[in-house]
Amino acid sequence: MAPKLDVNDPQVKSLLELFAKISLTGQRAHDTVKNAKYARSLEQVIHALKLDEANLDAKTSSAVVVAASSGADLEATKREYVVRRVLDGDLKSSDQIQTAVKFVASHTTIDPTEFDKECGVGVQVSAEECQNAVRSYMDANKPQIDSSGGWASMSSIMSAVRATPEMRWANALDIKAAVESELKARYGERSAALKKKPEKSTEGGKSAKQNASTTTSQPTGPDAMFQEGFLANLHKPGDNPQLTPELRAKHLEATNGSVMTRFPPEPNGFLHIGHSKAIAVNFGYAKYHKGLCYLRFDDTNPEAEEEKYFLSILETVRWLGFEPYQVTYSSDYFPRLYELAVELIKRGLAYVDHSSPEQIRAQRGGPEKGARSLSPWRDRPVSESLAEFQAMKQGKYRSGEATLRMKQDVLGSGNPQMWDLIAYRVLNAPHHRTKSEWCIYPTYDFTHCLVDSFENISHSLCTTEFILSRESYEWLCDALQVYKPRQYEYGRLNMEGTVLSKRKMLKLVQGGYVDGWDDPRMYTLIGLRRRGVPPGAILSFVSSLGVTTNNSTIQTNRFDQSVRQYLELDTPRLMMIVHPIKITIENLDEDFVLQIEKPLHPKVPAMGTTKVPFTRTVYIDRSDFRKQDAPDYFRLAPGKSIGLYQVPCPITCVSYRENADGDVQELICRYDEHAKPKTYIQWVAEHAASHSPVKVSEVRFFHNLFTSDNPAAEEDFLATINPNSREVFYDALLEPGFYDVARTAMQQAKAQAEQLQQNAKRLAVEALGEQRAKQAKEHTDALQAAHTTDFGKESIRFQAMRVGYFAVDRESQLSFLDKSQGEEDRLILNRIVTLKEDAGKTGSKPAKTS
Ligand code: ATP
Ligand code: MG
Repeated sequence: MAPKLDVNDPQVKSLLELFAKISLTGQRAHDTVKNAKYARSLEQVIHALKLDEANLDAKTSSAVVVAASSGADLEATKREYVVRRVLDGDLKSSDQIQTAVKFVASHTTIDPTEFDKECGVGVQVSAEECQNAVRSYMDANKPQIDSSGGWASMSSIMSAVRATPEMRWANALDIKAAVESELKARYGERSAALKKKPEKSTEGGKSAKQNASTTTSQPTGPDAMFQEGFLANLHKPGDNPQLTPELRAKHLEATNGSVMTRFPPEPNGFLHIGHSKAIAVNFGYAKYHKGLCYLRFDDTNPEAEEEKYFLSILETVRWLGFEPYQVTYSSDYFPRLYELAVELIKRGLAYVDHSSPEQIRAQRGGPEKGARSLSPWRDRPVSESLAEFQAMKQGKYRSGEATLRMKQDVLGSGNPQMWDLIAYRVLNAPHHRTKSEWCIYPTYDFTHCLVDSFENISHSLCTTEFILSRESYEWLCDALQVYKPRQYEYGRLNMEGTVLSKRKMLKLVQGGYVDGWDDPRMYTLIGLRRRGVPPGAILSFVSSLGVTTNNSTIQTNRFDQSVRQYLELDTPRLMMIVHPIKITIENLDEDFVLQIEKPLHPKVPAMGTTKVPFTRTVYIDRSDFRKQDAPDYFRLAPGKSIGLYQVPCPITCVSYRENADGDVQELICRYDEHAKPKTYIQWVAEHAASHSPVKVSEVRFFHNLFTSDNPAAEEDFLATINPNSREVFYDALLEPGFYDVARTAMQQAKAQAEQLQQNAKRLAVEALGEQRAKQAKEHTDALQAAHTTDFGKESIRFQAMRVGYFAVDRESQLSFLDKSQGEEDRLILNRIVTLKEDAGKTGSKPAKTS
């Protein structure tokens, strides 16, 4: 309980009287008096600005109190400035006043224009502008919002819209109203939408076990992983301990207090699904906090690096929806790292060692090697190490003859990362970027923390195998007295049912078991992309797993299930026939045509409609017809009727024609007003004027690449390859609604890519200011500038009703999109996932029928 105020105390009495003169009375006056600091601050401005004679109304007085209390720590003149601006009516909301206090606190002289800009003075945002901002945000983030069912994203939409500079000073209630009305228009009433949700989570879940996994991989908001758990509890920039206050101040000056992260792949292979977690964590954490993330190629190992990996990695990061603040290379820092190595020797904290690799291993001790020991070279004079290190650099030694080692704590520490780690080694290999300039290369242990330090990383997020390295990371930063970032470790994402190790994937590629690194059966990110998995589905999957210090091992089936859920509300539906059989409807005229308008998604009216022609010649799937009827069979057979989806009346089969082998060639049916169909099936009709049907050159169905549930654990993983992991069909026919779906998808992908670039630019300016963002951009490598985000054909996705989800393969030729004159059109479709969990495991039946 707070102490009661003694109103008889003369000092209290006089303060209460003074405050009453600015209409501050009652409980609020008492509270203010109780807090001596606030009271003193308010008293000071009242006297300085003669507010007791100013006749303030209640609203202004309340704003003055906010300014006095939040500005209690300010110098008097700065506090008076803020209060004066309140009195002038320039600062109205507490948000504005608090921003003003922060601004004056961090500026020695106050530039009024800059102040006004920062505090939103005079900014008026109309309700209509709010509505437009909400609309465009929801358009740009449609897939994520759809996957949450709409209303579940309400608060994240509100905060995202409020976080944009245009909406910074909008009235929160106007934004809330706009979000509500927009959600209602798109997803229906809130109460109805929230009730519908549980239905979705049981889809495809048969057993209790599957249901459980379905629920946990339920797509959550993309920001969920930053709002709870591990990533919600990291330090604020600047709060990580430093050797001296100066290091901290310099760091904050460089970053402007922003979150700075980095994604540091080694450019020696293509990224896989596990990396998407690292990307989501690093880029996502920065984005969530309006900070910046570097894409840093950790290229200290010259032997394994290749150009194609650099491009592919950047491309993949962009595909996932992130734009690096800068693309950097560890090798850019080689000269600086070398200088620091020299400095470390001078400080007596590193020495050139001539122990052989075996001797170094033996010094580390162990059950067979006995106690740990010090290198005999450890105490050689500094001057000798300096000379030898230079000799190493000049090529005097071959690999293994000399190393530079840090002088840590071999005998005292139980942490192997403190046993005089190697900082530099001799390696006579040309480097991808520095060519033959160097014959010594810094190790990961020496490079990573120092480059993090150079780049002023606020949070160095890495996987748990580096836990022990944190000690050496900090040791080295402190030894050199440089800014020390804070490392945090999170669990890796592993996939079971496939292999992710570079070595194993290389065997698949080189052995011709798959068609390259982007084969849709691979769990490389380029493979998943080619298969048609939307980037948002991957992020939503990663986010739904949450981030903790535990590694997670997920079956590929469960990933597929998550993709399926993501696609469910986001993907237009079309009719495709994989194994067509022709039907002639004998009672329709040759020139009969009925244009049928059908929704692209029955549950998402906003997706619009397409038109399909219905004529005398239609095609259905072979599997929907049987020569022999049966009591539990509901589809087409002689004498039986069936509904064609959205066609007003059913058809009844009168007869069929077969070839000498007994294969059915054609069905003869009647359009039949009186028939009562038991079920409806997909179909396409022949109508040249409507370009119907679209001929599909290839439809590719993918099944598990391995017969083992855990190929990575098998002695010979190649022995468990599923010989039937890909099936191709050559006769499929697709409805002409495909053309519009394809055009729209390409436009959207292009718009999203442009938006990404714009947002990235804006973020850099917001975090660092115009000037510094521009400088950073100029330093950025040509790689980044030259390469624009590729919105490929795989972003054309649809659900083929009753068949599965499909995407257009990158090798397709589509003249209506590419304007590739003279090229023969070739439409190739890849199945992204089946409609239901059980259909695609190893079976080869394309159509699951009811
Ligand atoms: P691999 O062992 O598959 O070759 P790596 O760790 O050598 O992977 P890098 O290119 O060095 O791959 O990784 C770049 C970043 O991605 C690192 O920060 C690494 O910790 C992270 N990362 C790699 N694999 C995973 C994974 N399976 N889950 C989460 N993060 C990962
Ligand atoms: Mg690595």
